[in-house]
Amino acid sequence: MERELTDVHCQGCGAILQSDNPKQVGYVPAKAKKQISCQRCFRIRHYNDIAPVTQDQDEYLRILQGIAKTDSLVVQVIDLFDLEGSWIPGIHRHIGQNQLLLLANKFDVFPKSVKWGRMKDWVREYAKDRGISPVDVIPISATKGERIAEAVEAIEHHRRGRDVYIVGASNVGKSTFLNRLIRDFSDLEEEITTSPYPGTTLDAIQIPLDDGESIYDTPGIMLNNRMTEQVHPKDLPSILPTAPINSHVYQLQQEQTLFFGGLARFDFLEGEKQPFITYMANQLYIHRTKLEKADLLYQEQKGKLLVPPTEEGALRPWKEHNFTIGGKGKQDLVISGLGWIRLRGDRARVRLYAPEGVQVLLRPAIV
Ligand code: GDP
Repeated sequence: MERELTDVHCQGCGAILQSDNPKQVGYVPAKAKKQISCQRCFRIRHYNDIAPVTQDQDEYLRILQGIAKTDSLVVQVIDLFDLEGSWIPGIHRHIGQNQLLLLANKFDVFPKSVKWGRMKDWVREYAKDRGISPVDVIPISATKGERIAEAVEAIEHHRRGRDVYIVGASNVGKSTFLNRLIRDFSDLEEEITTSPYPGTTLDAIQIPLDDGESIYDTPGIMLNNRMTEQVHPKDLPSILPTAPINSHVYQLQQEQTLFFGGLARFDFLEGEKQPFITYMANQLYIHRTKLEKADLLYQEQKGKLLVPPTEEGALRPWKEHNFTIGGKGKQDLVISGLGWIRLRGDRARVRLYAPEGVQVLLRPAIV
C-alpha cells in the first residue's frame, strides 16, 4: 500500500483518505498520490464524470411523472444555440402543477451586440407558444461563469423552501452548470449522494440544501433531433461553439451551394443574388461551390475535405428539405445543434440536406 493511513483529510468531505476500500468513505486510488480529495469529491468537482444520460424515452417520462407528483420547483436548462432542439417536448404536461424556471445557457456564443433582454423575450415567447409561462428566464453562461449567482438567487427565490429538480436535454451544459453550483455555492459539508429514481434504472444525484431540502439532478435526455446527438462524440468539438460566433456573409448567386463540413448542405436554387449569413461554430469548415459540381464533390470529398463526420456511417443518410422564402422579413434556417443560416427575406427557393431526424426549421431571425 503506497498511501499511509495517516490523518490526511479529504478537502471536500473531511473523511480520512485511504486506498484500501473503494466502497468506504475517503477512498483514493493509491496511484493518485497527490490527490487531496477522495475519489468521490474529486468526481463531484468534475461533475460530468458522474452525470447520467439516457436515451430511453419511457424511462425519462417516468422520471418526469415522478416529478409531477412532488411539490417542487422544476429548473429546465436549455441551450440558446439550439433552443428548438434542446426544448424537452411536452415538458408542461409532464411536470404537473409545478412551476418552471428556465436557465438559458450558452449565452456567450452570441455576438456581444445581442442583449440579455432580447434573449429572455425570445425564450419566454417560445415557452408560451408551448403552453407554459416560466416563473423566470435567466440567460447564463456555465462555462464562462456568467450570471450563475443570478440563477442561484432565482432558484432560491422561486423554490420557496421546496425541493428543486433540474432537467435538460444532453449537451445543454447542465453538468457544467451544476459543477459550478457545487464548486462555488456549496460547502460540501453534507454528502452528495446518488440513488436510483423510483421505478427506473437511472440514478438521481442529490445535492443537499441548507434547509433540509435538495436539488435533484435528473439524467440528461438524448433528443435525437439534434446534430449534437447524431455525430460521433469525437466530432462534437467540431460543431460545439466555445466562443462568440463569427458570422460569415456569403453573397450567393442562384445555383450555388454551401457544405457545412460533410454534415449538411445548403443549395440556393433560385432567386436574385443575395447575402446568406451563417452562424455556426467558428471551427466548422464551410465550403462553397457551384450546384452542378456539388454531388460529385460530396462523393469524392466526404470524409476528406468535407469533415466532420470523421467516422464512416456515424450519421443517418441525408434528408432533403425544400423552402420557398419571401415576404416574411429576415428568417433563420435552423439546423438543430449545428447553427443557422440567416436569409434576408428576398424571394428565393432553397434546399437543405441534413441527416434524417435532425430538426430543420425556419424562424424569424434572432440576431
Ligand atoms: P450536459 O450533457 O447537459 O451535462 O452538458 P455538459 O455540461 O457536458 O456540456 C456539453 C458541452 O457544452 C460541453 O462541450 C461544454 O463545454 C459545453 N458548454 C456547457 N456550457 C456552456 C456555455 O455556457 N457556453 C458554451 N459555449 N459551451 C458550453
